[in-house]
Amino acid sequence: QTNMKTYLVTGAAGFIGANYLKYILAKHDDIRVVVLDALTYAGNLATISKDIDNERCYFVKGNICDRSLADQLFADYKFDYIVNFAAESHVDRSIDNPQLFLQTNILGTQNLLDAARRAWVTGKDEFGYPTWRKDVRFHQVSTDEVYGSLGPEGYFTEETPLCPHSPYSASKTSADLIVTAYRDTYKMPVTITRCSNNYGPYHFPEKLIPLIIKNILEGKRLPVYGNGSNVRDWLYVEDHCKAIDLVVRKGRNGEIYNVGGHNEKQNIEIVKLTIETIRRLMTEEPAYRKVLKKKELDANGNISIDWINDSLITFVKDRLGHDQRYAIDPTKITNELGWYPETKFEDGIVKTIIWYLNNQEWVNSVTSGDYQNYYENMYKNR
Ligand code: NAD
Repeated sequence: QTNMKTYLVTGAAGFIGANYLKYILAKHDDIRVVVLDALTYAGNLATISKDIDNERCYFVKGNICDRSLADQLFADYKFDYIVNFAAESHVDRSIDNPQLFLQTNILGTQNLLDAARRAWVTGKDEFGYPTWRKDVRFHQVSTDEVYGSLGPEGYFTEETPLCPHSPYSASKTSADLIVTAYRDTYKMPVTITRCSNNYGPYHFPEKLIPLIIKNILEGKRLPVYGNGSNVRDWLYVEDHCKAIDLVVRKGRNGEIYNVGGHNEKQNIEIVKLTIETIRRLMTEEPAYRKVLKKKELDANGNISIDWINDSLITFVKDRLGHDQRYAIDPTKITNELGWYPETKFEDGIVKTIIWYLNNQEWVNSVTSGDYQNYYENMYKNR
């Protein structure tokens, strides 16, 4: 087809990228997608194996920092859109190894911007600014963490000053600034979305919600940082994917859009709600209990869930520089593009837990080896 749009989606073997890939392939018939992913510990082909069977989807294993690979891909596929998810994404890991975060998140983004510039620039205007191919766009997937931390009141808007605290958020902020520098210096067509915490299927179990689910199913303690009072604004991953799809295709050129769920919860509330929901689901549907590693029987001869309660919670030494509260004001994307968070948290968390109960094979496949070592080290001294 001549009007077929071609996407480069980086990092689509990870959590949000994979959900986005599934969403756009199902939603748009007139697109094809090239996935570029280095398959780090966080990326897994099992997550997208069905998608890459699709004849409109191609997988390339590679690093976004690789210049000649990026040029080759642009030459081969003539991308219309680039959506950059690829990143090192875990704050705790950034505290242990900042350099990798700077390399991937900053230099990787800049490498992609440069490849796009080499491919998309058509000439110069009278002032010396580059002129660009029509209808192309570079979209950067960013985070609310670039704004730093809030007190008990207020929300992050797109005008909130950037004030990141962790090596992760500092690297994401730098990437955003490089993207806007290319917009301002070269008039490159770009957009950025800054989203709050996501949850949903395919979330790697080092992050709070999937970690809590995994540990409950394995009968392990549930580590909670500090006193558990840190507040995050949780958004169901599909709602984030819808927001990115709208911004890439209809967002105003050069703009930044905040994306959030208006769903603030303390970490401790999230943990208690997850415990409660697992108990409820396993009471309503006892067959789910089969996935529990602990197979003690209760008085009725069923696998016991009596021990699934708040006593599993263990408070551990707080994360260094832990931001207290994030909360997004998504008014701009709602007013301009009609986006709003469609999935209520109470529904999203149930969908997510049921997904994990039904997809233990996936959890096992992504958490072998490397993850185990990391997890042991992480909590050893806390
Ligand atoms: P993730 O860690 O689950 O996935 C990252 C993916 O990027 C993996 O598939 C990994 O293999 C790949 N990758 C890492 N380094 C690479 C490299 N050098 N070259 C190519 N591929 C590489 O992350 P996620 O949670 O899906 O987050 C995706 C993006 O969304 C990130 O940019 C993150 O900053 C942003 N974000 C995440 C959240 C959240 O709640 N998870 C919220 C807002 C924004």
